[in-house]
Amino acid sequence: MPAGRYAPSPSGDLHIGNLRTAVLAWLFARSTGRDYLMRVEDLDRVRPGSEKRQLADLAALGLDWDGPVVRQSERVHLYSDAVSDLQARGMLYECFCSRREIREATSAPHHTPGLYPGTCRQLSEGERTQRRRERPAALRLRSQVEQGTVVDLLHGSFTGPVDDVVLVRGDGVPSYNLAVVVDDSHQGIDQVVRGDDLLDSSPRQSHLAGLLDLTTPTYAHVPLVLNTSGQRLAKRDGAVTLRDLTSAGVDPFAAIAASLGLDGHTPADLLEVWDPRFLPRDPWVFSPPLS
Ligand code: GLU
Repeated sequence: MPAGRYAPSPSGDLHIGNLRTAVLAWLFARSTGRDYLMRVEDLDRVRPGSEKRQLADLAALGLDWDGPVVRQSERVHLYSDAVSDLQARGMLYECFCSRREIREATSAPHHTPGLYPGTCRQLSEGERTQRRRERPAALRLRSQVEQGTVVDLLHGSFTGPVDDVVLVRGDGVPSYNLAVVVDDSHQGIDQVVRGDDLLDSSPRQSHLAGLLDLTTPTYAHVPLVLNTSGQRLAKRDGAVTLRDLTSAGVDPFAAIAASLGLDGHTPADLLEVWDPRFLPRDPWVFSPPLS
């Protein structure tokens, strides 16, 4: 069964922007006859109790999902297999750069800030031995291209840089980019709906999927929710979680529906009138109620 998904990171309560993305992913999946899967991305930044609260909030909105909740922490063997495969093909290399070194290297002329400049790609065996004494290595993909193109239902054909992405962090934890590619393909997810802050990552993820002989899903990167200063909504902006909003007398689901130009109190109400062509393309500016 083809599927869409929502993949929250249990690092705190979901805010109305996260909830809106979850509703959109549900609408895209259900309106196209897909399953809707729930995957908890708990390899990093886990806050105790957060997963339970997030799932309770999603259920309180009326979202339902198929099959059991999947947790990345229980699937580490799949990521290790992918790493062994790439390693056996000589496609990985050790990287000893700190974040600061990367920042400094990429602030130099001719570099794009944030893109890994390939510093450790050509280290000699002697240099690697030396640097292993200084800090544990991360593993990076020896990427085969400089850029890649993906197709997005909202953004059309999108071309972006593909650099040597980290697949295993220095502390041995599989990276988000590795886990997401392995999981989406292994779970039969062929439709990925998520915030458009991740649009830039999709050419890298698609390139990695190709090297692992995995499929690339169809993407829909949906607009984010911003605060009244035009920044990405965050919890410090005030009453933005489901609990905050409900106690301030706001119906979070109706607010999400209104932000989509729709009227309704349940996901099923919206499904009846849902047409992705009318999804607003601009960010939703949310001004939290005074509590
Ligand atoms: N876990 C990521 C987040 O909560 C989403 C990643 C994805 O949808 O690919 O931002």
